[in-house]
Amino acid sequence: RTTQPAVALSTPTATRDGHRVKLMANINTLADAQAVKGSGAEGVGLLRSEFLFLDRTTLPTEAEQVTIYQEIAAAVAPEPLFIRLLDIGGDKPLPYLKLPSEANPFLGYRGIRVLLDRPELLKTQLKAILRVSHQYAIKAILPMVSAIAEVQAVQEILSQAQLELQQANVGFHRQLEIGIMIEVPAAVNLSDRLAGVANFFSIGTNDLTQYVMASDRNNAQVAHLADAFAPAILRNIQQTVTNAHRAGIPVCVCGELAAYREAIPILIGLGVDEFSLPVSVIPQLKQLIAQIDGDEAGAIASAVLNLDSGAAVREYVASRFSLPL
Ligand code: PEP
Ligand code: MG
Repeated sequence: RTTQPAVALSTPTATRDGHRVKLMANINTLADAQAVKGSGAEGVGLLRSEFLFLDRTTLPTEAEQVTIYQEIAAAVAPEPLFIRLLDIGGDKPLPYLKLPSEANPFLGYRGIRVLLDRPELLKTQLKAILRVSHQYAIKAILPMVSAIAEVQAVQEILSQAQLELQQANVGFHRQLEIGIMIEVPAAVNLSDRLAGVANFFSIGTNDLTQYVMASDRNNAQVAHLADAFAPAILRNIQQTVTNAHRAGIPVCVCGELAAYREAIPILIGLGVDEFSLPVSVIPQLKQLIAQIDGDEAGAIASAVLNLDSGAAVREYVASRFSLPL
């Protein structure tokens, strides 16, 4: 076995046969943002904005949000920053919002559902993002989308936010790009239509896995089922990528699945364009991707869709992949 020469962190990420993929960073805080430069990440593919709302007793104002998004964007610039709109509920409470207690929080009031129920909260966040997008490369991502009407409702509130900024003579980017988190089976089923109302998709494999497999992501008793390598999940990713590419929009995978080395040949073989991951794994994945052949990845991806379990998928990749994983 020959040792591969190390790929410099500053080299664009590509497979052995020259297929470009983008590695971006998942971040929660300004401190995380400060670690992005020099990590090899081409920007931030997922800022979980809810973390900026924790550790407080009241909602941040528009001005406060502008300040923090600006600090984060400045740390990442000139690379882009994708800000996911507030994704609370489920396993992420926000005590001062007094969310109702629910029998099934993961099937309840969370993500975009909360934002559309509290349009002032959504509009304030959109205005802050719009203002920062005047100066920095920013995109927004909608969490927990399960219907076309939800995206249309956000677009309406976005128009109001733009109008109000315009009337106040505040600068903003006129064509803010909006991406959709694909993390609910309904969104996968609708991905042909959602692709018509989004600029990109970001697949959240953590939630997608729990919802497709009907297995709570935090319940040890069903952890064996909540396996993102399960062929059922990979087929959902395949369907999403196919529909996105038909519509000409890119697909990012930002769930934990992408941080597993065995997942990379599969996801590249399925046509995933971008990965957003903790910065700590980026250098090794960049190295790994440089050793992958696109055709081999395609063959691996088609084969694993017909295996019997997530465990079988991992074993198959390890056996087929000619380089150490
Ligand atoms: C996901 O669901 O995969 C995801 C990236 O979002 P979070 O883990 O924040 O729910
Ligand atoms: Mg999620």
